Order: sequence, then C-alpha cells, then structure tokens
Amino acid sequence: RLQQRIHGTTLEINLNALTHNFNFFKKQVKPDTKMMVMVKAFAYGGGAAEIANHLQTMGADYLAVAFTDEGVSLRKQGIRLPIMVLNPVEESFDLLREFDLEPVVFSPEFFKKLGNYAQNHQIQLSIHLDLDTGMHRLGFEEKHLEELKTLIAAFPELTVASLYTHLVGADEEEHEEFSRFQLQQFSQMKSVIEAVLDYKPLVHALNSAGIVRYPEFQMDMVRLGIGLYGVEVTGSYDSALESVSTLKTTISQVKSLDPGATVGYSRKGQLPNGGKIATLAIGYADGYDRRFSQGKGYVLIHGQKAPIIGNVCMDMVMVDVSKIDVKAGDEAIIYGEQISLKDLADQIGTIPYELLTNISTRVKRVYY
Ligand code: PLP
Repeated sequence: RLQQRIHGTTLEINLNALTHNFNFFKKQVKPDTKMMVMVKAFAYGGGAAEIANHLQTMGADYLAVAFTDEGVSLRKQGIRLPIMVLNPVEESFDLLREFDLEPVVFSPEFFKKLGNYAQNHQIQLSIHLDLDTGMHRLGFEEKHLEELKTLIAAFPELTVASLYTHLVGADEEEHEEFSRFQLQQFSQMKSVIEAVLDYKPLVHALNSAGIVRYPEFQMDMVRLGIGLYGVEVTGSYDSALESVSTLKTTISQVKSLDPGATVGYSRKGQLPNGGKIATLAIGYADGYDRRFSQGKGYVLIHGQKAPIIGNVCMDMVMVDVSKIDVKAGDEAIIYGEQISLKDLADQIGTIPYELLTNISTRVKRVYY
C-alpha cells in the first residue's frame, strides 16, 4: 500500500495463484514429462527473478528466456535451473559459457560458429535445436537436415540437450489441422537427428494451449508460458486457472466539470452535460496502452466501471466517474480477477501477451 502511494501504480503478483496454475498444467502432463517454463520478457511482465525463484521451489525442470542477458540476470540473482536461450547471438558466446546458459541453435551457420567457438575454447556446451515445421521465424528446415547431421558429427563439443518445434496456432481451433501437420513433420525431422546421436535428447513441442489441446504430444517436456500467468487463450479451461496479476493505480484528483467541457490532450474527451472525472496515476509510460483512449478501455473503482475519457497521457489517464462516489486516494483496478485481460486485449485489437509484457519497469511488482 505504501509503495502504491509513492508511485501510484503497482502490479500485484499472487504467488499462490501461480502455484495453482503450475500444478494445473503439471497434472495435465504425464508424470515423467518435464516442465519448462517461459520466463522471457521479465516473466511475461511479472518479474523474472522472483518468479523463477518461485518456480525453482515448485519443481520446474527448465526455464527459457529470449535473450542471453535475460539469462545472465537470472544467474546473477541466484537461479540454478537449466536455462534455454531462444535467440542468442554470436557476440554473447562468452556470456553463455560463463553463466552456464544453453543456446538454441537454429541454422547451419550458427551451428558452425558455436561449434568452432566450443572447439577453440575446448569446452562442452549444451544446445537446443529449433526445428521449423511451419512457424518460419527461426529454425532448421527439412532441407538443412543432411548438413545438420554432418555438423553434429563434426562438433562433438555441442551436446544436443533437446530438439523442439513451436506450433503457430495451438490456441485456435481453426489451425488444428496445421498443428497436427506440424507435429507430424516434427516427428519425422526429429527421427532423422536422433538416428545420428548416441544419446537421447529431450523432445518437446507444446506451449500452454498445446498442453491442453494435444495431450498425446507432450513427449519429454512441455513449454509453459501464458497459462502459468493465469491467462487462458483457448476459451476451453478458463475456470481452471487463477488470476495471477492485478494492476492497480490510485486516483490523484477528482474534478467536477461544466457542460461542454473537454478532457485531456486534443480535447478528445467530451462531456456535453458536464460531470465528474477522476485522474489516475497511470499512463502509457507505465504500459497502459494509449489505444484505450476515448472510451475503448475502462477501470474498476469500488467495483463499478469507469470508462476512459479523452486520450491516455504519458503518466495519467482520466476516467468518467460521474455516477461513482469517489475521492482522491481511492484505488482503481486496471486489470485483475474482475477485469479479464483477454477482454481488454480484444477491445484494442491485441493479445493478452502484449498487455502483460508492456507493463514498464517503473511499476513496482509486489508479491504476496
Ligand atoms: N515456446 C516458445 C518457443 C515460445 O516462443 C513461447 C512463447 O512465445 C512459448 C513456448 C510459450 O507459449 P505460451 O505463452 O503460449 O504458453
């Protein structure tokens, strides 16, 4: 509460809800299927080190980050779990080695660079091979497999810890046929690689939606992301998850306005009959999307909906509280259990992932 009074806005993270969600997914998978958890992008905005630490005590098997520096930061904060780095770059090879991070290798060129690095330094590195079965962002394609087999033989310094692919539409029913095609493709590609290894890498393909939709493809590991953070994207098991994050802010001032008054920049907020507005201590610099301007978004004050009036400012936003009894210092809920992130995201044509990861670092995370 004190923190909220100092900065105005806080992101509250309910660690018990996080545990609940982790256990929900853990129960969906076979007892020997490992749980990798995505803590990239500051653990979907929730705070990477705190959440990784919690996952470590909950029995997660692996973590994944997007960039090497995210992994370095976790190591510096005492995280010991194995960490996969999805998008490493050549310039970070020394850091990967120093901080015991496991890069994804996604092309023959990258394999050679990393292999040469490991040979020159006479070290062994664990790597993960990304197999592109239809996402077409990173990853080895079928046409690379022959070369990949040669590279695996040429660079025994690189241990293939895992082989994986990523589904392009696990959360959408309309893409079920394509998902099944990808899984089939993955199965063929992985067999080619497995045949040249004298050890068994982990194989994995499913994200949160996939875990629930395609349980028969859980394989050795699943990669849990958004579901852990309490957001259900398929619309089929919503009530099974608990809400993890609540974004709250405070009313700085309440104003009564005369008929015809306008609110905020460019006079976009109109009050033809006058009314009452509250100015909140959150703006787009906190990650409150400017697309919520002019009635596209709303907040909850004392359980009642207060629509955004005018344009969202950098550090503030005004809401219409003409019908709500409010005073400065009262709390406003931006999202949380009572306001679904999915609905909010739909409202401005985006996805919950973007809303979560946009909350800026100046918003304090509070864990309970
Ligand atoms: N695996 C990979 C390679 C990803 O990039 C992501 C997230 O973007 C995930 C798994 C987790 O996906 P979700 O958050 O939908 O569970």
